[in-house]
Amino acid sequence: MAKNKKEMETHINPYESMLARFYAAADILNLGQRERDILSQPSKIVWVNLPVEMDNGTTRVFPAYRVIHSTVLGPSKGGIRYDMAVDLDEVKALAAWMTWKCAVVNLPYGGAKGGIQCNPKEMSVGELERLTRKYTRAMVDVFGVDLDIPAPDVNTSGREMAWIVSEYSQLHGGKFYPGVVTGKPIELGGSKGRVEATGRGVMVNTLAALKKIGKKPQDCTAAVQGFGNVGSIAAKLLSQQGIKVVAISDVSGAYYNPKGFLISDAIKYRDNNGRDGLKGFDGGEKISNEQLLALDVDILVPAALENVITAKNANDIKAKLIVEGANGPVAAEADPIIDSKGIMAIPDILANAGGVTVSYLEWVQNRRGHYYTEEEINGRHDAIINSAFEEVFTTSQLYKVSMRTAAYIVGVGRVAKGLQMLGKY
Ligand code: NAD
Repeated sequence: MAKNKKEMETHINPYESMLARFYAAADILNLGQRERDILSQPSKIVWVNLPVEMDNGTTRVFPAYRVIHSTVLGPSKGGIRYDMAVDLDEVKALAAWMTWKCAVVNLPYGGAKGGIQCNPKEMSVGELERLTRKYTRAMVDVFGVDLDIPAPDVNTSGREMAWIVSEYSQLHGGKFYPGVVTGKPIELGGSKGRVEATGRGVMVNTLAALKKIGKKPQDCTAAVQGFGNVGSIAAKLLSQQGIKVVAISDVSGAYYNPKGFLISDAIKYRDNNGRDGLKGFDGGEKISNEQLLALDVDILVPAALENVITAKNANDIKAKLIVEGANGPVAAEADPIIDSKGIMAIPDILANAGGVTVSYLEWVQNRRGHYYTEEEINGRHDAIINSAFEEVFTTSQLYKVSMRTAAYIVGVGRVAKGLQMLGKY
């Protein structure tokens, strides 16, 4: 039901948005038909229906997916999403974005994504654990330290990753396999800085972009949509840089305060509010998520779900800089409008790459059995993101294209080159 509701609201298929950008880059790169055919579709799709016993004794069947888009540059990497709006096209798009993202920041990974169509807010912890273990059993031949490495995404966190390590390890004779997932709790081999990494990447990209457009952080205001892992941490780190965060939001609506929010208070409120998130938060005027997008701010950070900026509302955007914390928040149809308004949009495959960057560092630490300090992690992360930003910026100047097209040129170009080197497999 939720899937149909989402389709009615947007009519936009995220996979088609991904393809539009892929083909634009493929044309500029002059890619051959073989590269286009291989890279425009996933290399593997696993679709299972998982029967799970609910607390009331009934059994419910949950559709669940894992899509491997590419393993050209290494084992596939990508999160697992629990949401009623999960469907195959969404997971396919998210998997492809992971391929381009890992390539943009030059990590030795391919791309994948997983999703289970469920409403975790209406499920008990026991039901979620049984569902996660069932999913792991179904994917036992898909996941692997050198094969396919999941991580958290919307509505999943270190808790689900710990269940996956537990189930996967038991299915392999009890040998401990922390490197089979990233985003784990630190006690189980997780990395310092991983929880903050995606928000940190958003902040590092924002500062790099502000420098290019000649603005000082302390002169800027920002609106952040979504107050989960990415949105709340991005908001916190942006305000620590002197940027005034005047609007925040979640599924309960948006909250506006022209004086700026003390983000730590909003995080405290959310954490004490259980599954209700920001609902009832009185730190600012209540506005809608749609109004948040049109606020007169310098920086807009969409960090919730895809397709929130479309051809219908792109004209209303007043921000001069969009930093895409979420995956696919801007539909491809809105690209020309954003470009014509002179807005710099830092695309998802660069803006939110901080998460997979520290996931990579977590995986490296698991393989080596040696763990870095938070300072070392943040230093490596910032260096990787800044260097990717510069490469994309230089590419955008060279080809006279937007940052989005430039990021696709870098990412798709790197994968296509690897594909050619692998020969005719
Ligand atoms: P999360 O589950 O922690 O938070 C999602 C947030 O979005 C919640 O605050 C929720 O209330 C809000 N939300 C949901 N529907 C909304 C709506 N219609 N309007 C406004 N807000 C809404 O998820 P997350 O991990 O923060 O992921 C957010 C986005 O960032 C997703 O697109 C995800 O793919 C992307 N992302 C996440 C990571 C990561 O490391 N977690 C990495 C890269 C990209």
